[in-house]
Amino acid sequence: MEYFYTPPALVTPPTLAIEGDELNHLTHVMRMRVGDAICVVDGAGTAYDAVIREITRRSALCTISDRHPGMHEAACAVTLAAGMLKNPARFDYLVEKSVELGVRTIVPLLTERTIARQAKTDRWQKLCIAAMKQSGRCFLPQIQAAVPYPQFIASEHHPPLRFIAHESARHPLRGMPTEGEAHALICIGPEGGFSTDELRMAERGGFRLVSLGRRRLRTETAAVVAVAALLQG
Ligand code: SAH
Repeated sequence: MEYFYTPPALVTPPTLAIEGDELNHLTHVMRMRVGDAICVVDGAGTAYDAVIREITRRSALCTISDRHPGMHEAACAVTLAAGMLKNPARFDYLVEKSVELGVRTIVPLLTERTIARQAKTDRWQKLCIAAMKQSGRCFLPQIQAAVPYPQFIASEHHPPLRFIAHESARHPLRGMPTEGEAHALICIGPEGGFSTDELRMAERGGFRLVSLGRRRLRTETAAVVAVAALLQG
C-alpha cells in the first residue's frame, strides 16, 4: 500500500487536498486517477482512506471514507538524542532508520567530541516524511534544533524512563521494563563517544547507563539498535 502525506491544514472533513511534491508523486509517479482509492497520512497522528474526486494542477481533491487514528504508531513515544556526526550520510541513515522503527523525536546533540556542527534540517525533514510513509506511520517525527549536551541533560522535561548508551555499561537496554510507559529517552554518543564528564552529568540527571551488547557499534548502528530495543514489536 502506497501512502500519501498531506498536512493537517489541508484535511477539512469530509474532504482533504493533496498539494506540492505529494501531488506530483500522486499524479506523475503513481499515476493515480479520479476514482482511485488511496491512503493519506496527516503527520499529526491520523491516517485517512480517501477517494480521489478531482485533480487540478494545484491539488488533488479527495473525499474521506474512513479515518484511522494512531495507525501503526507505538504506544511509547521514544525520543532519540544522538551526537551529530561528521559524515552527514551517517546521520541521514540514523534519521531514516529510526523513523522507520517508530521514533517520535530526534534531538541532534552537540557534545564535547562532536565535530560536525551543521544541522541539515530541511533534508532531515524530507527524510522523515519519506520514512513515515514508507513504514506506514501517521505521525511525522520532529527533528529538534541541535542543542549543546549540558543544556539538554539539564532539561526538566525528561521522562522518568531515560537512558544513556555506553559500551561499558552492565545493564542491557533490551529487557528494561518499558511496558505501559508513555515516553522514553535514549542518548547515543558521537563517533568519539561521551566524555567521562558527560556520563557523570547524565547519571546525576537520573539517566541509566545501558549496554547495547559487547561489540562497539557506530553511532548510527547504536541508535537503530536502541530504538528497536525500546520499541520491541
Ligand atoms: N567510545 C568509543 C566509540 C563511541 S561509539 C570510542 O572510543 O571511539 C558511539 C556511541 O554509540 C557511544 O557513545 C554509545 O552511546 C553508543 N554505543 C556504541 N556501542 C555500544 C554498546 N555496545 N553499548 C552501548 N552503547 C554503545
